[in-house]
Amino acid sequence: MDKKTKDIRDLSLDEINHFITQQGEKAFRAKQIDQWLWKNGAREWNDMKNIPNNLLEKLSENFHFKSLSTLTHIVSTDGTTKFLFETHDKKHIEGVLIFSRDRVTACISTQIGCALNCGFCATGKLGLYRDLSAGEIFDQIILMNEHLISISKRAITNIVVMGMGEAFLNFENSMKALEKITLPKYLGMSPRRITVSTAGVADGIRKFADLNSGMHLALSLHTADETLRREIMPVTKSNPFNEIIDALKYFHQKTGERITMEYLLLKDVNDSLEQAKALAEFCKNFPVKINIINYNSTDEADFKASSEEQKNRFVKFLESKNIIVNIRASKGDDIAAACGQLALKNKK
Ligand code: SF4
Repeated sequence: MDKKTKDIRDLSLDEINHFITQQGEKAFRAKQIDQWLWKNGAREWNDMKNIPNNLLEKLSENFHFKSLSTLTHIVSTDGTTKFLFETHDKKHIEGVLIFSRDRVTACISTQIGCALNCGFCATGKLGLYRDLSAGEIFDQIILMNEHLISISKRAITNIVVMGMGEAFLNFENSMKALEKITLPKYLGMSPRRITVSTAGVADGIRKFADLNSGMHLALSLHTADETLRREIMPVTKSNPFNEIIDALKYFHQKTGERITMEYLLLKDVNDSLEQAKALAEFCKNFPVKINIINYNSTDEADFKASSEEQKNRFVKFLESKNIIVNIRASKGDDIAAACGQLALKNKK
């Protein structure tokens, strides 16, 4: 019978230490293993070069090593690179590298599929299969960084947690992975270069605020009209605006941070002047910046991208209210770079 119950990366350093000493091994081996797991990005037992074979055998007899592998990657004409990763149980998730002049931003996933079923999102059509482990979230960064270094000698400079899934509904694993990515003794990336996005899970926003991690927060708002948002983002039914606003105020009080509002402009849905007014009103509650995102049409959704003219009108109104607005150029249109599109195609 398989006596393995846990993935090695679900163990704390203390637990690894306990196992090592129980086996009659020297305690310093635990630290070495920990470094292999979270600093050097080992994804299989044999990667741990300075660990003796007999100890590797004992580890592999007692623990799983559930790492990700890259199934494929596709490069867009604008350089955006989308990765399809395979989990140990043969499920598929996505990660994306987005290039701008001085940055390479990695977008990572936290769940296989998503339960929130936002109307404009291909991942929502997949439903939720399961949460990703901290190791699987971490692996996306390791794999994309290895690829990036191999092609350009550059490394990832920024991370957005905005791929498949809702990070705050897999809070512990997402935060554990981000802790490993930011701690100086592991990957040591500055938390100031990381943004975690939520569809509006109020309770998660409060927990994230309490961590005061230095990471940024983005709300995928997409409309400030609550009735419409209940339709296109059903998460609003269990997280009404008053709760989301209170949680965002709390986040700002705790951290002093400006909050990013992500706003996907959808033709004739949320791009009217009325909608812009509602958005400006919503944003009165805390310092914000708004990212206007062009919509990547999917075959599955009924939405279309707004016209340039409508977009300009919308943005002008917000700017007239002294709100910081960035327009995000649509990246990777030709490779289905919007969240969940590749995994959905693969599933079909
Ligand atoms: S937009 Fe995000 S929260 Fe909404 S269904 Fe897609 S992955 Fe889930």
